[in-house]
Amino acid sequence: MYDYLIVGAGLYGATFARVAAEKGKKVLVIDKRTHVAGNVFTEEIEGIQVHKYGAHIFHTNNKRVWNFVQKYADFNRFTNSPVANYKGELYSLPFNMYTFNKMWGVVTPEEAAQKIEEQRADAKAAMEAEGVTEPRNLEEQAILLIGRDIYEKLVKGYTEKQWGRPCTELPAFIIKRLPVRLIFDNNYFNALYQGIPIGGYTKMVKNMLDHENIEVKTGVEYFENKPELDDLAETVLYTGPIDAYFNYSKGTLEYRSVRFENEILDKPSFQGNAAVNYTDSETPWTRIIEHKWFEFGKDKDGNDLPKTVISREFSSEWKLGDEPYYPVNDEKNSALYAQYKELADAEKGVIFGGRLGEYKYYDMDAVIAAALEKADEVL
Ligand SMILES: Cc1cc2nc3c(=O)[nH]c(=O)nc-3n(C[C@H](O)[C@H](O)[C@H](O)COP(=O)(O)OP(=O)(O)OC[C@H]3O[C@@H](n4cnc5c(N)ncnc54)[C@H](O)[C@@H]3O)c2cc1C
Repeated sequence: MYDYLIVGAGLYGATFARVAAEKGKKVLVIDKRTHVAGNVFTEEIEGIQVHKYGAHIFHTNNKRVWNFVQKYADFNRFTNSPVANYKGELYSLPFNMYTFNKMWGVVTPEEAAQKIEEQRADAKAAMEAEGVTEPRNLEEQAILLIGRDIYEKLVKGYTEKQWGRPCTELPAFIIKRLPVRLIFDNNYFNALYQGIPIGGYTKMVKNMLDHENIEVKTGVEYFENKPELDDLAETVLYTGPIDAYFNYSKGTLEYRSVRFENEILDKPSFQGNAAVNYTDSETPWTRIIEHKWFEFGKDKDGNDLPKTVISREFSSEWKLGDEPYYPVNDEKNSALYAQYKELADAEKGVIFGGRLGEYKYYDMDAVIAAALEKADEVL
């Protein structure tokens, strides 16, 4: 007998399992995949930790979460500083003085601010000339916020590929703000703590689950053995899709998906950076990840790696059976989730948690924080 059956060996399940185990609870963790770590799973290929379900960069302002993860991994000093490739022209992201210098040749923050202001004023004047007072679509909204040059080269194509529709057909509210930095700073995340667990996320999650009170079984589909598995534990913590738990009785929650094409290249470097975003409309992929740069191109002993692994990312429509990535928190899906939440609240002896169990986009630190809080509450 176990105190907890945890369905899902992702960050939510592993965090909760660890805290419960340390409080003396007996825990069984199952996952239908053949590995632990859920979507943060990394697999070693050619000595490189490859992020199999999309690039993951750990960043947080939450001291409790940072202290928690430090117990299971050493983090390196990786800082996310993506590069934009617009038809072969390279720009620094997020928008900062390096970007503006490359775009317009401006040198001082004052000159950059003036240039942006001029472009915004032109956009406003053009709209007013047409008798338009509020931006009617994402394109107008973005140009009002950042001006035409940055929009055309760095926002338009990327956004259209992500959403699969022209910016003129996307609602303005999708972009509320486009932060502009008038300093030389390519650090994408403005977080107090940032880095990549040395040796990969899988190693970190394995360490979290390595406790005498935790048993882990992978390759186990919960719904194929639900009654038997439920009988093994007092309480179930379920971190799979909430609609699947209720057999889609109210309908299917929708997701946005991503498709990855991975390639091993027989050369030491492909692009010299972990992430390059393709911001034109013509290139079919949104970005290319070169995994070795998350650990500075070195193996675990600090040697340079001769090969490289890249992943091209494509935005794709999601259908039932595909890997669910990003929840679509629009009105329709939020209302459907609310119905499932009601069923979940009435389900005795089952806790629903994590990105799929709560149908919520969670960054890694937020999902760990949520699991720690749930543990505080129930243990
Ligand atoms: C493309 C992408 C990139 C991201 N990049 C970042 C980033 O850079 N930084 C960041 O902080 N966050 C990032 N995130 C968020 C991060 O992936 C999540 O916070 C985290 O994976 C959530 O963990 P979880 O445990 O809730 O879910 P999961 O990791 O999905 O774990 C749930 C587990 O449950 C298992 N499961 C489901 N159903 C069943 C069943 N019926 N039986 C058995 N097992 C089942 C699944 O196999 C899965 O392993 C990114 C997310 C995506 C989609």
